[in-house]
Amino acid sequence: MSTLAIINPATGALITEVPADDASTVASKAAQARAAQPRWQAVPLAERKACIERFRGLVVRDLESLARTLTQDTGKPVSQARNELNGLLGRIDFFLGAVSDATGTQTVFDEGGMREQIEHVPLGVVGNISAWNYPWFVGGNVFVPALLTGNTVLYKPSEFATLTGLEIARLLYEAGVPYDAFIPIVGDGAVGAALLEQRIDGLFFTGSYATGAKIARVVGPRLIKLQLELGGKDPTYVRADANVKNAAESLADGAMYNTGQSCCSVERIYVHESIYDAFVSHFVETVKTFKLGDPMLDGTYFGAITRAPQLDVLDGQVFDARGKGATLLLGGHRLPGPGNWYAPTVFSNVNHSMDLMREESFGPIIGIQKVSTDDEAVMLMNDSRYGLTAGVYTPDEAKAHAILSRVNAGSVYWNCCDRVSPRLPWSGYGDSGIGLTLSNYGIQTFCRPKAWHLRSA
Ligand code: NAD
Repeated sequence: MSTLAIINPATGALITEVPADDASTVASKAAQARAAQPRWQAVPLAERKACIERFRGLVVRDLESLARTLTQDTGKPVSQARNELNGLLGRIDFFLGAVSDATGTQTVFDEGGMREQIEHVPLGVVGNISAWNYPWFVGGNVFVPALLTGNTVLYKPSEFATLTGLEIARLLYEAGVPYDAFIPIVGDGAVGAALLEQRIDGLFFTGSYATGAKIARVVGPRLIKLQLELGGKDPTYVRADANVKNAAESLADGAMYNTGQSCCSVERIYVHESIYDAFVSHFVETVKTFKLGDPMLDGTYFGAITRAPQLDVLDGQVFDARGKGATLLLGGHRLPGPGNWYAPTVFSNVNHSMDLMREESFGPIIGIQKVSTDDEAVMLMNDSRYGLTAGVYTPDEAKAHAILSRVNAGSVYWNCCDRVSPRLPWSGYGDSGIGLTLSNYGIQTFCRPKAWHLRSA
């Protein structure tokens, strides 16, 4: 059997090697999940909920060691790893509380002996190919509601978060989920591609546009449920009437949290010309207070860049922006290893001719552009192939509403950013993907609505 090397991105050191799947083991795991699915569906919902409730308790029990494993896997600062795990608990609570109502059989018509009902039937076997940047979040958004609704799950963690993926499996089994109802699949993109070849009833993917588009080409003709949660180039506009200091502090965190490696990181900032200089100066001063260093230490804010090739992307955006006249205010270069490190980077005087303002950066780098009017800000926010989130900072709710109504994004924020709620659907426009997770819709998406026409006589 082949193995997958697990490298700590903060040190470059080999942590361990784990057995990896290949096309034949993926096929036999898919057959196991297929055989198990009717049994898991037949388990009463109350028992499936009890398993997930126990899983939640085990995450709480092991939280510190899970956070450290996540930090070793990805280079994420340990305090932010704890935040992710604590955030997962809230999402589990939402799913546990909502699943019965979201998927109970609904009677929508009952007259003259004719009854119409909608039943929610599990899709069957679902594949979940996941990203590394928030493996507990993006994985949990799929496997928790998928299992609760009676699906079996073939779960492929990212090759850059494999130890975390194996911890998820360990705790689900300890919680009572059968070994064949949730099956981890270990490996890189080729192993993910092998999963696409199996007889599955749904494929839920989180990752880059490039991989999502490849998956769509393979899975599209199969006519199964396909969800793609992809990248973003998320904009925020700071209006002339905004509280400059508060907006700068909030947006510095929104751009740099998780070392800028969040799908909903703030990636473009537009600021009204009347407050531009003050905003830029507060923003840079705030970023300077964020500590970069050993992600295992509690006070660290900036950790490692998880995937080494991303360093080239960041260098390329810096080179392109400088060449086109942007002003570099902070950083703009790699930091010495071992491991993958990039200096927090801030540019002003940017425009949309620059890759920095058009292509996903996925790192601790931001461009701040000056605008003259609300209309110009809306035009620039919409000048993107992506549409995951967008925000406005202003005390004027009516103005914020008017602006955000015109912006093409799945989630919009007034005076906040980089925020995900289990109660709201998470989706994107354009190249940010298709389908959704979270909210009641994100539970129903793991079911087929089956229509019952019932005449009593
Ligand atoms: P990626 O596309 O490189 O990899 C994602 C997964 O796809 C991995 O598990 C990988 O092994 C697998 N894969 C690669 N090639 C494959 C193939 N040909 N067939 C099947 N599977 C294949 O993405 P990543 O670097 O892990 O994640 C970063 C990206 O994810 C960013 O673009 C980010 O914005 C996006 N993301 C989006 C959301 C969201 O909710 N919209 C959330 C988190 C991350």
